[in-house]
Amino acid sequence: MYDIIIIGAGSAGISAYKQAVKHTDNILIINHGPWDTTCARVGCMPSKLLISSANRLHDAQTLENVGIQANLKVDTSNVMSRVRKYRDHFTSAVLEDVNSWKDKHKINGIASFIDKSTIQVNNQTYQAKSFILAVGSEPRRNEEWEKIGNRLLTSDTIFELEQLPQSIAVIGSGSIATELAEALYHLGVEVTIFSRSSHIAIATSPKIQSLIQENFNQKLNIHFETTPTSLTKEKEWVCVKYKNRENQNEEEIKVEYVLNATGRTSLLSSLKLENIESSFSDIKNLPIDNSTKQLKNYPIFIVGDAYTTTPVQHEASYEGKISVNNCLSYPNVNDKKTYPPLSIVFSSPEIAVVGKSYKQLKDAEHKFTVGFASYTDQGRATVLGKNIGGIEVYFDSTTQELLGAEIYVTEAEHLAHLLAWSLSEKANLKQLLSKPYYHPTLEEGLRTSLRDAYSQLKSSD
Ligand SMILES: Cc1cc2nc3c(=O)[nH]c(=O)nc-3n(C[C@H](O)[C@H](O)[C@H](O)COP(=O)(O)OP(=O)(O)OC[C@H]3O[C@@H](n4cnc5c(N)ncnc54)[C@H](O)[C@@H]3O)c2cc1C
Repeated sequence: MYDIIIIGAGSAGISAYKQAVKHTDNILIINHGPWDTTCARVGCMPSKLLISSANRLHDAQTLENVGIQANLKVDTSNVMSRVRKYRDHFTSAVLEDVNSWKDKHKINGIASFIDKSTIQVNNQTYQAKSFILAVGSEPRRNEEWEKIGNRLLTSDTIFELEQLPQSIAVIGSGSIATELAEALYHLGVEVTIFSRSSHIAIATSPKIQSLIQENFNQKLNIHFETTPTSLTKEKEWVCVKYKNRENQNEEEIKVEYVLNATGRTSLLSSLKLENIESSFSDIKNLPIDNSTKQLKNYPIFIVGDAYTTTPVQHEASYEGKISVNNCLSYPNVNDKKTYPPLSIVFSSPEIAVVGKSYKQLKDAEHKFTVGFASYTDQGRATVLGKNIGGIEVYFDSTTQELLGAEIYVTEAEHLAHLLAWSLSEKANLKQLLSKPYYHPTLEEGLRTSLRDAYSQLKSSD
């Protein structure tokens, strides 16, 4: 009987393995498919490589903002080759690490449960004292749309394109859809977005969301609250039919490709959890403790994208690591997640949500004060020619403790980290205002939002 069996070797499973092997040699990790992680192969890294070319081009196309004119020549086949070249660099680094692990620790195959302490892989059974389930997720499928064959892309296939198409319909407006749609637009693709919701990406604050939509509406054709009624392949084109929300007319566009970015589906169903308890067949409503990721009271922990409301890489790795500590100390399950929530969308400018979102605070009827700063005339942002968007910071109206922030400004990733680290330190408004702010920097805009919150709290004293 193994001490721990880890199922899935993505960011969460690899992190769990590396933590487990420090404590015991009696472990097994099982993975189906490539061992180079979703993040490196088809997720974080190739998407950021594409976005970095797109952002450079967008900067060059907006050089007139800083008084320069230039003639640009773009060959998107070079862009896509670079994406794959560095994607391969990142995946081979992961594989090199995995290849250095002991062979007796690794099995290729699809694992599923037979009972609470036994799994089956390749017709063999294995038992363990505890399990870490890190099976991740895959792009949501739509069989009807799949009839257009290879003209239907997902984030799993888009990075394989030799060159970018002239036009694309992106279905979805979540983080992945937003990043890819905007990057493709900046690289010269005519992009139309169809979104079931009326939101772009993760911002929940009406003010920040309207700043995002104002900017996106200038670049992309967006049909909110609209899902295509049909996709049909016609020679070199895909005909996308939809009902126009404003006039209720049936309309259509012709595009070269369609990107299905409507979300991701957990791969937990492959594990046959119902063989542990029949109620576990309802994989969307499993009794999982959010802070430890423990399944009911079993020595079983479900980590990473397989069961989460925050499908991000650093959380997956973090959960993988702490679940090992909890497996080893079981039945004492004390190691809890303490990271404040942090999500970043690498749009241009970037969108970030840190700590509690505006909506979460509203829904909880929390008494909070919102400090706002616009970046349209923020000093540093204007110097950079990137004076778009704004920042909202949220403070408890009584204790003045920092609760969260929503950000849509250039380089939001850095402000988001500052705020996430401040949240970890349980910083309050006065402490944040007492920090140094170099001039001229984007951080000064953060201070403006803090001062806005301060003046409201002072006047309500
Ligand atoms: C396009 C895109 C962009 C992204 N960008 C970012 C970003 O910028 N920043 C960020 O933080 N996050 C980003 N993410 C999310 C990030 O990639 C995920 O949070 C992370 O990869 C999740 O890791 P994981 O270990 O849970 O799953 P995975 O890495 O998917 O690993 C799961 C593994 O389990 C295997 N498996 C499944 N079922 C079984 C079974 N029954 N038996 C054995 N093995 C099984 C799978 O085949 C897979 O190898 C992005 C994702 C995508 C798709």
